[in-house]
Amino acid sequence: MIPFHISTNMSISYFFVKTFAFTNLLLSSSRVSADDTYDAFQIPKCYDKDSLITPQDPLFAKHRLAFSKFYENWPYSIVEPVPSSFSNFIPADDAAMTKGKEAISQIIQCSNASNIKFTARSGGHNNAGASVMNGLLTIDTRGMNRISAIANTQPKDISPKQRSYWSPGNVSVGVGATAGQSLYVSFNQTSGQVGNAAINFAGALPVGQKPSVGMAGLTLGGGFGFMTRFGGFICDRLISFEAVIPSGPSAGMKIEVTKNGPYEDLFWAACGGGGGNFVVVTDFKFDLMPVCPYNPPPTNDAVSPVKCTGVVKVEYPVMLDDTDAIDFYQHMSYDIDTRITLNFEVNNTHGMVTGIFLGPWDAFMNSLKTAGVNEATPLTLSGFEQNSKIVKNFAQAITDLTGWTNEDNSPNILIQSFLQERSYFKYKSFFLFEPVNAEVIKMLQDLVTYDDKNNSLVFEFQSLGGGPGTDIADYDPRNIYQSPPNNFSSVDPKATAFPHRNARHCLMLKATGNTTMEAEDLLQKMEYSFFKLAKKIKGGASYYNHMDLSVPGIDLYFKNGVEKSDQDYWVDKLASVRRKYNGDGMLSNLRPCCDKPKDPKDPKPPTSGGGIKFSFSNIFYFTLVLSVCVWF
Ligand SMILES: Cc1cc2nc3c(=O)[nH]c(=O)nc-3n(C[C@H](O)[C@H](O)[C@H](O)COP(=O)(O)OP(=O)(O)OC[C@H]3O[C@@H](n4cnc5c(N)ncnc54)[C@H](O)[C@@H]3O)c2cc1C
Repeated sequence: MIPFHISTNMSISYFFVKTFAFTNLLLSSSRVSADDTYDAFQIPKCYDKDSLITPQDPLFAKHRLAFSKFYENWPYSIVEPVPSSFSNFIPADDAAMTKGKEAISQIIQCSNASNIKFTARSGGHNNAGASVMNGLLTIDTRGMNRISAIANTQPKDISPKQRSYWSPGNVSVGVGATAGQSLYVSFNQTSGQVGNAAINFAGALPVGQKPSVGMAGLTLGGGFGFMTRFGGFICDRLISFEAVIPSGPSAGMKIEVTKNGPYEDLFWAACGGGGGNFVVVTDFKFDLMPVCPYNPPPTNDAVSPVKCTGVVKVEYPVMLDDTDAIDFYQHMSYDIDTRITLNFEVNNTHGMVTGIFLGPWDAFMNSLKTAGVNEATPLTLSGFEQNSKIVKNFAQAITDLTGWTNEDNSPNILIQSFLQERSYFKYKSFFLFEPVNAEVIKMLQDLVTYDDKNNSLVFEFQSLGGGPGTDIADYDPRNIYQSPPNNFSSVDPKATAFPHRNARHCLMLKATGNTTMEAEDLLQKMEYSFFKLAKKIKGGASYYNHMDLSVPGIDLYFKNGVEKSDQDYWVDKLASVRRKYNGDGMLSNLRPCCDKPKDPKDPKPPTSGGGIKFSFSNIFYFTLVLSVCVWF
């Protein structure tokens, strides 16, 4: 008997699509017969040969590598929808992007027909190496890296109050682009002059701190960095994205996802639910944030151009054994104006408070005082004064703080791939819902290890929440001393797939080594300390983008740290979205966000069949199966 039946409410189109999918399934084994494959690796001929990088190909050795040297995975093969230049930034053009999207649709159809599971890859930085998995096909999207920003024309009648929240433009970012490339090009194309001080009305993306991270993984998992408290998570700036459905009756169908469109559940899941779970994204569109979110005291002319004099860059060194300074940092970095997102990182033998204040010097000094900094506090006002400076060029300030460059580098270094920085590394993290106590600070201080070969075990406190608490309705950017609302924590937690909007900081542990042996030692120390720290840190919640295979399950990301009454909200909703678009799990992941058994209340998968091509052979197979159905 044919193993599916036609229910009374099944639409005609659903029946057609289902029949086609079933036909594919029936015939998949015959399609992958020796005649239909390229070689001994049994790669089906429905993949375009020119875009394949098979294990025999000399490029395979490099292309299979994850950013962390810890992961030596061997994919079944690699397929590039658009050839990547690998280490140089050669942006794709519109035609290449269109071709790439169509190619991904074909690859997915071929994979479904041949029952070959696949992963998607953007920057390859996943903490567990999830974008290149043993024995699976890797869809390497690095060549799909077109970035195109459009500056908004400032309306003539815009009021000074509106201006700071007025969007400087939007940017389309192909999934293969890195964070550094996206930031650099957005800023360059909206300011027109990346090399000088003209940052009036320039737009930026609140990307993470290292420029090499891929935009797909970063965005889909959330994405925090230098500007999170003012700009929100990167995913909070999503306007729309394009994607291809990876499995089920509409496998290969290209869709456009918007907040209130037909795929609003996917839009919800794309902000924090993590890459490699729902659909293969091809292109993002983001709303840019203003680099100068303030207006100076009003002039006579309400619409006169705002003079933006640059940003303030902070690099304040702190002795690592200074427990009081670390404790004080936790409070002041939470209380301070949201135009600065401070980070405490360990830099060799000392700690360093870093950040970029998106505003003038006077406002920065005032924000420190308002956050309780004075000459008697462990981090002093004069300390900040000496260790901060105005940087006229915003992109330069970002470049200086990336940690992989030095101040002699010009901002165009942001577009590099930084593949030379590959090392053995692994991160672990906790979202902090309250300041950690002196005992935990001491445990962190004891953990720090550093040697002159750059083997290290360090910690980092990345700010997220807090601020003086201004309501958007009361915010007046003409008052340069007033803090804007916090755009990370003011998002309703249930509005996106990221549950931890009440986090104050993300506490990270980072083990990095030059060789496996050196790194393994540090890794063991980190794993051991993580479980000791977990007993002391409230909530025990972690960042999905720091995927951690040494902790089973997904409670760590979507359940821990959440109010008891809401604990199943994210897990259930994510699981339902995954079943709807990726029910067969063809798009694979090492630690899927949310595998749960089917639920009778599950929404039906989309069925408009956009990706299916009615070739002669498909029509033949279709007719064959239809006849068999009728016959039965
Ligand atoms: C050096 C370094 C610095 C970091 N700094 C920060 C930081 O400042 N802020 C921050 O928030 N995070 C940071 N991270 C963590 C980072 O956000 C995650 O590792 C992220 O998942 C990396 O994204 P990627 O695209 O580079 O990785 P990949 O390994 O390519 O992808 C990550 C996941 O997304 C999936 N995926 C890839 N492409 C697609 C696609 N087109 N469609 C659907 N799924 C896809 C993959 O299959 C995989 O599951 C950092 C990581 C590293 C290694």
